[in-house]
Amino acid sequence: MLHQPHPRPSRSHSDDIRVSFEFFPPKTPDMETQLWDCVERLAPLNPSFVSVTYGAGGSTRERTHNTVARMVREGKVTPAAHLTCVGASKDEVDAVVRGYHAAGVRHIVALRGDPQGGLGTPYVAHPGGYAHSTALIEGIRALGDFEIMVSAYPEKHPESASLEADIDVLAAKVDAGATRAITQFFFDNAHYLRFLDKVRGRGITIPILPGIVPVQNFRQTAGFAAKTGASVPTWLARRFEGLDNDPATRKLIAAAVAAEQVLDLVDHGVRDFHFYTMNRADLVFAICHLLGVRAEVPAA
Ligand code: FAD
Repeated sequence: MLHQPHPRPSRSHSDDIRVSFEFFPPKTPDMETQLWDCVERLAPLNPSFVSVTYGAGGSTRERTHNTVARMVREGKVTPAAHLTCVGASKDEVDAVVRGYHAAGVRHIVALRGDPQGGLGTPYVAHPGGYAHSTALIEGIRALGDFEIMVSAYPEKHPESASLEADIDVLAAKVDAGATRAITQFFFDNAHYLRFLDKVRGRGITIPILPGIVPVQNFRQTAGFAAKTGASVPTWLARRFEGLDNDPATRKLIAAAVAAEQVLDLVDHGVRDFHFYTMNRADLVFAICHLLGVRAEVPAA
């Protein structure tokens, strides 16, 4: 029998498509302006939540806090603050969690974080710190009423022995209290769909949000993918071939590639999408528009 794809979204049934966005905390006044312009543009799309990353080893501790605290104060989006275990004692991490709570933040993306020696070096937990993400989740739960989200790796975390071992870790994170997972980005939907099958087969029922990265800059994205274990298909590289000095065409290709990816996921029944925005709104806004996710127009 022919596979019947799910109907693609139209304005009439975009109601069941939910989006969320990732931002990073700004370093300079210019980046600050760029971030808040981006938030301003994407907030009317009514995201389920927006997440704000936490720099390696807590390097953005203040900036992440200030960003999510401002989001709470302004009330236009629901922020989820990322947090890692790297290079900090339990007391220090707990202080960050208490600070988030005091600022009104109720969503945390709980992560172990990368090894301090850089990717590829062994991870060494802080002697007085949380040893891994599962321990961090337990610590956060003991401190307050947070919704805790975690990472998931459709192509396996680079340090894991196998995808099955990774799914065991995901199951442990869910048992510890995680209620939603966001995946590492991927370009070949087959990786995500296979992963989802395995995760469901393992009895894990929490939403597994596909992390979608619009390719703002192919070389940069490919470099990042190589570090995180995400594969870059040859067809993707070929689409950006010869465009290094042609940003306008690159942008059109990036929009087409991302549109193809999300609409194929819709065809496979996916309804939640998490976009890595890189603090740039235009491509993400366009893709959401295609998905039928629009700003609410006030009644006349
Ligand atoms: P985990 O799921 O904790 O797994 C990491 C490794 O530890 C795996 O090999 C796993 O097998 C092992 N492990 C986990 N639990 C146990 C256990 N109980 N016992 C034994 N071994 C265990 N990094 C940042 O620095 N800041 C961010 O803001 C950030 N945001 C991210 C957001 C998303 C959606 C994703 C996918 C990644 C993000 N990262 C971020 C990167 C992440 O920190 C790295 O990939 C890191 O190497 C792993 O942390 P984790 O929590 O994702 O991994």
